[in-house]
Amino acid sequence: MKIQKITTYALIASMTAMMFTACNKGGSDDSDDTTAATSVEITAEVPVTETTETTEETTPPVTHTEDEYKAAGINELNSVPILMYHRIYGMTNAETEYTGGNVDESGYNRTSEAFEADLRSFYEQGYRMMRLSDFVDGYIDVPFGYCPLILTFDDGIRDAVLEGWNEDGSPIFDPTCAIAILEKIKAEYPDYNVTATFFLNKDLFGNGEENDRKILQWMVDNGYDIGNHTRDHVKLDEYEADEIQDQIGYMYQYLEQIIPGQYVNIVALPFGQAGESDPKFDKIFAGTYEGTEYTSRAALLCGWTRSYSPFVRDYDNRAIRRIRAYDNNGVDWDIEDNFNQLNNGVRYVSDGDPNTIVFPAEDNSSGDWLKNTFDHQVIPY
Ligand SMILES: [Zn+2]
Repeated sequence: MKIQKITTYALIASMTAMMFTACNKGGSDDSDDTTAATSVEITAEVPVTETTETTEETTPPVTHTEDEYKAAGINELNSVPILMYHRIYGMTNAETEYTGGNVDESGYNRTSEAFEADLRSFYEQGYRMMRLSDFVDGYIDVPFGYCPLILTFDDGIRDAVLEGWNEDGSPIFDPTCAIAILEKIKAEYPDYNVTATFFLNKDLFGNGEENDRKILQWMVDNGYDIGNHTRDHVKLDEYEADEIQDQIGYMYQYLEQIIPGQYVNIVALPFGQAGESDPKFDKIFAGTYEGTEYTSRAALLCGWTRSYSPFVRDYDNRAIRRIRAYDNNGVDWDIEDNFNQLNNGVRYVSDGDPNTIVFPAEDNSSGDWLKNTFDHQVIPY
């Protein structure tokens, strides 16, 4: 037990109060913020200092004031970077003939040096990772004042390159592949919440089926997610409904055999195609394969720009936008271009409570920009 001084704010609410909010926040930014009830209109904040007894484990309640929201730029209607990576090659940037860590002309593949630098840079810029599946659920659990960041990898190639197995059954990866670098960063930055979703085709990571089955289980046991990138990496817009159903349904059935119930029902569209109004694309989202029904909760486009917040009108879970993780000297929607835009007032900044949606009232002045509340408490300020 210890005596702790807590400063709280007495809230003076109007009689017609419609909203009340209470957040618990500890001394650091990564503490849990919980508790949410109905809302009140906060008309004034009066600081009150009181002395109370508390245990070491108790998190003292702190109510965020409008001034605190303003000072931190809290805005949960703003945009979120969902990065689209492909292969990570064990090369330095100097070893490629393209700019800034690109391994091919279009910049779909990246050097391990550049990938590692990307991850450090995002951390320094105030981003913290979260799972794509939580984003699709509208559950954004990032500390107060930080911005969510989501990593995705398409195709599986060079993402988990196996070198052997430890005695305890854990995989030994080539230290330059994506998963090895993610694990390295995870160890270095415990508050980064390192995670990523890998979208696979029928050949998985290319280490042979027996090895890849074990790797997939290790990955889901270690905080990574696996999604559907179709069986054969085809252009879905060139296919008819039945073929689309086979491409999507096969992968769900295959993943169900390997990691039952532990994959995410999300599709990364090969070449970013589909999601258009043609009803055949409904097979991406619901169908039947060999007698078993499947559903997809979301589909991802090929990358160029940041995603809308899942709470706003223009967000479309059937066509979620991603940023192509490449370098083009800061122009044409490369990483630097995108993050410059994000950091210039359009990025999602979390209030630390995944069960509330906090934003400047003027951002929803049209009355219809906030659309999907996921039953969260809504707190305009
Ligand atoms: Zn692909």
